[in-house]
Amino acid sequence: MKSLPDLAGIPVDRLRGVGPKHAEALRETGIATILDLVTFYPRRYIDRSNQSPIADLVEGQPAMVLARVRKTTSRRTRQGRTMVESELFDGSSYLRVSFFNQPWRGRQLQEGSEVTVFGKVERFRGRLQMTNPVVDLVGDRTGRIVAVYPQSEKAGLMTWQLAGWVTEALRRVQPGFDDPLPARWRDELDLVSRDWALRQIHEPDSMATAAKARTRLAFDELLRLQVVLVMRKRAMEREAKGLRHRVGGELVARFEERLPFDMTAAQKRAVDEITTDMAGPHPMHRLLQGDVGAGKTVVAVMALLTAVQGGHQGALMAPTEVLAEQHHAGVSQLLAALTVPSEDTLFAERPLEVALLTNRTTAAERNRLHQRLADGSVDILIGTHALLTESVAFRSLGCVVIDEQHRFGVEQRAALRDKGAGDAVPDVLVMTATPIPRTAAMTVYGDLDTTILDELPPGRTPIRTHWARGPLEEASAWDMVRSEVAAGHQAYVVCPLIDESEKIQAKSATEEFARLGGPGGELENLRLGLLHGQMTAADKDAVMTEFRRRELDVLVSTTVIEVGVDVPNATVMVIEDADRFGIAQLHQLRGRVGRGAAVSYCYLLGEGLGPDSEERLGALERSTDGFELAEVDLELRGEGTILGTRQKGATDLKLASLRRDKELVAVARRVAFALVDDHPGLEGLPGLAAEIEMLLEEEDRAYLFKS
Ligand code: ADP
Ligand code: MG
Repeated sequence: MKSLPDLAGIPVDRLRGVGPKHAEALRETGIATILDLVTFYPRRYIDRSNQSPIADLVEGQPAMVLARVRKTTSRRTRQGRTMVESELFDGSSYLRVSFFNQPWRGRQLQEGSEVTVFGKVERFRGRLQMTNPVVDLVGDRTGRIVAVYPQSEKAGLMTWQLAGWVTEALRRVQPGFDDPLPARWRDELDLVSRDWALRQIHEPDSMATAAKARTRLAFDELLRLQVVLVMRKRAMEREAKGLRHRVGGELVARFEERLPFDMTAAQKRAVDEITTDMAGPHPMHRLLQGDVGAGKTVVAVMALLTAVQGGHQGALMAPTEVLAEQHHAGVSQLLAALTVPSEDTLFAERPLEVALLTNRTTAAERNRLHQRLADGSVDILIGTHALLTESVAFRSLGCVVIDEQHRFGVEQRAALRDKGAGDAVPDVLVMTATPIPRTAAMTVYGDLDTTILDELPPGRTPIRTHWARGPLEEASAWDMVRSEVAAGHQAYVVCPLIDESEKIQAKSATEEFARLGGPGGELENLRLGLLHGQMTAADKDAVMTEFRRRELDVLVSTTVIEVGVDVPNATVMVIEDADRFGIAQLHQLRGRVGRGAAVSYCYLLGEGLGPDSEERLGALERSTDGFELAEVDLELRGEGTILGTRQKGATDLKLASLRRDKELVAVARRVAFALVDDHPGLEGLPGLAAEIEMLLEEEDRAYLFKS
């Protein structure tokens, strides 16, 4: 039996008919080995039993026709567009197909070639025709179901050539493909064999067998990924020594007492899960998910305090400088007036110290800070990811909270290991700013445990969101700002996202601020404030304080308000050029209103010209549930953006989709746990181990498979 690593060792040019030129074209398409070829899956299938003779075509109906090209002509229309027309004949009758603005069709539809066309049948001047049909050059391939491969115009590879080579490769894999999945699981999950699947996906007997084959192969992809994640999780639990934090201590209790509100049941549950981890012998690796406004900050602070109360330190890492500064302000405020034991002072205690470290920290401040981190007089450090890479030495780092994920990988984890006390690894809590779908979380954060905050604090009124299309509706958005201000409330205006650059953002916000409040501006005579990331910390503070004190009516800002700004009296938000933001970011922005008891409004301005804007802005109008919106986002953007680079080396998802295969993801995860817990180093599962090792990068391979 042949394994996938066996096939990865055979170059494609060993196949008959693949000479140096074809081999080069295949390489350009990403196919270098027989493994690449047999896992180059069909894009779709043509079911020839659905084929109709041209003579039987019915006007107005979609149909598929297999015919030979009789004649192809190319010309320019009076409007200056190119038009390619072909005359097709299938023995029963003639069909004309025409293409607008696709000049290359002239080369594709060569006289004498056999083509399949799929499209709607029209009648034009008494003759049957199709306009811009889907065309496949299938060659003279036999079989009822014909696989269509993604063909590469550039590399000059045709789907029938690829099909031919795949057939040849499959024929030569003898006696067959090895199956890495124990038979017991195949039976239980009702999965077909690997060998059958690889053959049927390329040369299916029916659409149903193609679907079964796909399920098996997609499952294999997901299983490999999950096994890696579960192994990583188990390896961490097995090998890394964690700190056993004391929980239920006095500092945490004092903090909770002083909160101006009761924690929600969900928050309490989250804190329980986190502190149970922290008390245990293994380092915590937990993901905290919750909707915007669910109160993740308080939960995170409880984790940090649990470390501090045992004499350790905590760190909070944010993805940007601005967010770090905002977290610093928010957390300092929450912890103001808390004290920790100290031997150096008369009263045996000192104020709990929260410090900020960013690129703006001056060299002198930095030196002093390093000193105070090393001697333990700073309890909680807040900053960007630079915290980990920098030569910051903590006296004893006990807990790290990472806000806004997607960037925390294996390398950072290694860096963390060096920052703990002695040989102990600090506990890690990862927070996402907005929810991500369950299947995506299982995949992207599959080596973490998960806690979900599924409850909002009481007294929130759902935000009413309206997408204002066109000048008339925009005018009503500004009307609403003025009338809410007249009623004693406040408003935010978020300026267009023009560029990723903070400088350009700041300039555009400054201009918009002047325009709105200037003579004839929509918000003339209101008290406007300006906030952007280029302002000094002191200026930002000053504006925020004025806004909080209601000395300003409207805050015009860039996306710096995304996190951390918390003014319950603000009831309207206007987001300009909303189209430029993603669903998650709009949802996050919108979460700045709706924090009090009054009804709040969010207006999305924009024509909706961007890709998917109907779906995106429409979804925000319909739903205020972050988990639901996350599903829509995944649907629209695909998994690529979510998977990102975090799982590089383990992403061989060619067939499997986190959207379409939700159940399969969960099944693969369950099986992965069962397999890894029975065979921690995959001993006894050599086929699976070999496949996984092949996909991993060196570093991971060494980590997971070292005996
Ligand atoms: P997010 O989960 O979006 O980070 P935050 O932690 O910023 O949410 O909390 C949002 C707001 O809700 C803050 O003003 C916070 O003080 C408040 N809050 C948090 N927990 C509660 C609670 N249990 N009851 C009332 N308000 C709460
Ligand atoms: Mg937050």
